[in-house]
Amino acid sequence: MEIIGHERPLAYLRAVATRGELAHAYLFVGPAGVGKRAVAEALARELLCSAKRHDFGGCGACADCALMANRAHPDVVTLSPAERLLTDADKKDIGIEDVHELTRRLAATAWRGGWRVAIVDGVERMSRDAMTALLKTLEEPGERTVFVLIAQTLSGILPTIRSRAVPLAFTPVADDELAPMLASLPAGERAPALALANGRPGIAVRLANDAEFRERALSEQREYHTLLRAALPTQFSFAEAESREPGRLEGFLSYAAAELRKDLAAAVGERQQRIAAALGIMLKTLASLAGANVNRRLAADHLFFQLDGLRRQTV
Ligand SMILES: [Zn+2]
Repeated sequence: MEIIGHERPLAYLRAVATRGELAHAYLFVGPAGVGKRAVAEALARELLCSAKRHDFGGCGACADCALMANRAHPDVVTLSPAERLLTDADKKDIGIEDVHELTRRLAATAWRGGWRVAIVDGVERMSRDAMTALLKTLEEPGERTVFVLIAQTLSGILPTIRSRAVPLAFTPVADDELAPMLASLPAGERAPALALANGRPGIAVRLANDAEFRERALSEQREYHTLLRAALPTQFSFAEAESREPGRLEGFLSYAAAELRKDLAAAVGERQQRIAAALGIMLKTLASLAGANVNRRLAADHLFFQLDGLRRQTV
């Protein structure tokens, strides 16, 4: 599979793998859909591919590569909120039982007698106990075992885990690298889809291949665009709907914050200060939504009320 962007982390991993100087653990950090998992799986193929000669990321044709393409290779153990080893995927966080099972599988002899790769995708979504158990495993790494820890953000990850892993940052991919992935779309949908993908190849792939996902995302984007500029009564009815259908407030805030960041770069003087203030309010609301026991309806009402106040200062 071709990887879009990420020349620096790829070049780094290729170099240390070639020199036989891989660390026991890496921590890939970057936004969802940007390509962290794709690079982790390329590293696994690099280590486990049985073809003698191949480019970084395996030959793609041998039995090992075929097993990995199906995420079925016994020497690659993957754990994520959606791919549990023991606990129920309905549980919010990855549990300590999952980490114990991961450790147990890694301690067994490698099926192919070579490397073992553990991919833990969503470290920030682990319970405190699970993180402590993971730390213990990282402190006593097995021979020829590589951990790839994946997270969208560093916050919430134990500093002791962070200090045990080599960090690699994944930044959004440039639009001109993403554009070819969306070339199959009707001309009028390419630019909005590119804006939606926002530097994330994983999202671009879904937008290009999943018509239902694309239609939903684009119509949501149009709705958010209108809502941002709507009068207060319309915004309040969105706030009311949000309490029945939670989660859309985050979607709106992410969209609106991205729009305002663009405006901020172009604005000057008083307008710039107002945009910065609005952006501050949005980011604060977004952060507060992550907390427990938030009254979402109230948070949304308060947000629109504050934004309206800022807007009125202009007249
Ligand atoms: Zn291969």
